[in-house]
Amino acid sequence: MDFSLSDEQTLIRSSVRDFAKSQIAPLSAQYDRSSEYPWPQIKNLAQMGLLGATVPEQWGGAGLDSVTYALCLEEIAKADASVAVIMSVQNGLPEQMILNFGSDVQREKYLKPLATGQKIGAFCLTEASAGSDAANLQMKATRATQDTLEGWVLEGQKVWITSGGQADLYLVMARTGGPGSRGISCFVLEKGTAGLSFGKPEEKMGLHAAHTTTVQCDQVFIPDDQRIGPLGEGLIIALSSLDAGRIGIAMQALGIGSAALEHAAKYALERQQFGKKIAEFQGVSFKIAEMSARLEAARGLALKAAWLKDQGQKYSKEASMAKLLASDAAVFCTREAMQIFGGNGYSREYPVERLYRDAKITEIYEGTSEIQKMVISRAVFAEYGG
Ligand SMILES: Cc1cc2nc3c(=O)[nH]c(=O)nc-3n(C[C@H](O)[C@H](O)[C@H](O)COP(=O)(O)OP(=O)(O)OC[C@H]3O[C@@H](n4cnc5c(N)ncnc54)[C@H](O)[C@@H]3O)c2cc1C
Repeated sequence: MDFSLSDEQTLIRSSVRDFAKSQIAPLSAQYDRSSEYPWPQIKNLAQMGLLGATVPEQWGGAGLDSVTYALCLEEIAKADASVAVIMSVQNGLPEQMILNFGSDVQREKYLKPLATGQKIGAFCLTEASAGSDAANLQMKATRATQDTLEGWVLEGQKVWITSGGQADLYLVMARTGGPGSRGISCFVLEKGTAGLSFGKPEEKMGLHAAHTTTVQCDQVFIPDDQRIGPLGEGLIIALSSLDAGRIGIAMQALGIGSAALEHAAKYALERQQFGKKIAEFQGVSFKIAEMSARLEAARGLALKAAWLKDQGQKYSKEASMAKLLASDAAVFCTREAMQIFGGNGYSREYPVERLYRDAKITEIYEGTSEIQKMVISRAVFAEYGG
């Protein structure tokens, strides 16, 4: 078993780390406060090839393996979790869906501009009454003809859509058939299409710069060539892409947790109480030890999931395990970091307050921790004949 990174992986991680420290981290508190969408940082990610990291070069991407991409995402998340989730959604969801299920014409038209970062993508699954229970979604797609074009009319609303209103392309799951998971198909919608509109950005606890809005479809006509993959397989397309997405969210969580660890360790080595550095108190040093151990364990699992993906092996269970443990580690580490900072941790002057707010969402989106446990337990029971 070889845990070492290749020279290329080490080099890419180190250049992304330098970039994130110099170009992204200095702006993250400002963007958190202003809640502006981080366009300058997103453009920089595009220039670095990080908005199409694992897409083959043929389709405009950087052609990186999933392990290298995961390492890069952790570095970006250490600097800014909002920028990281935009990067994770773009790479893990719309791009994977079009790459794996689209036609060559669709890859040329939609994947290339996403992979080069000319366009931003959004993933539209959740509805007000269908979150964890995505198979119950109600957005309706009805057969229609417009100006001799055969297609579908979409009617309904999606909620909580990352990059809503800012993105150019929306991968939307809508009901083309009867109830249940087989009645759903996947469509790509372009911003500017008649009838497509967006709500105001939600006022969230964290991830302020990564806008989240409703996406409204009022009689939106979509020609047949904007349907991705086979009719009735939209949920399969969405859920299989979420496996890749979950590795991304695990790395986002690890980035947030690692940043909390770094800030807490440096602070503990400086702050003095009772005539000593607080790092010398076992009550503080044990927190640092546990933070570090939890992050390392989850990182190992997340990189294993990415490695399995690169080998073309099944990785759904491992991706869910990684997201479960990494998000738990992020919430744990940011809470402990805040404790180590004492009163200063509660102040917006210091970064751990933002990290604490940003960490929590990793336990909720792209499947809550409870849903990850369902995925994992189903896979385990299947291994024992269930
Ligand atoms: C900031 C943010 C960004 C998001 N971005 C996107 C996006 O880009 N695209 C998108 O489609 N969605 C997005 N979402 C939606 C997100 O994926 C959902 O919020 C999430 O899947 C949970 O769904 P829900 O909020 O409806 O909670 P619910 O499904 O109502 O769950 C409520 C609680 O019940 C629990 N629960 C539900 N079912 C079970 C069960 N069977 N067993 C045990 N417990 C259960 C859940 O774990 C949770 O604790 C985003 C959400 C947020 C907050």
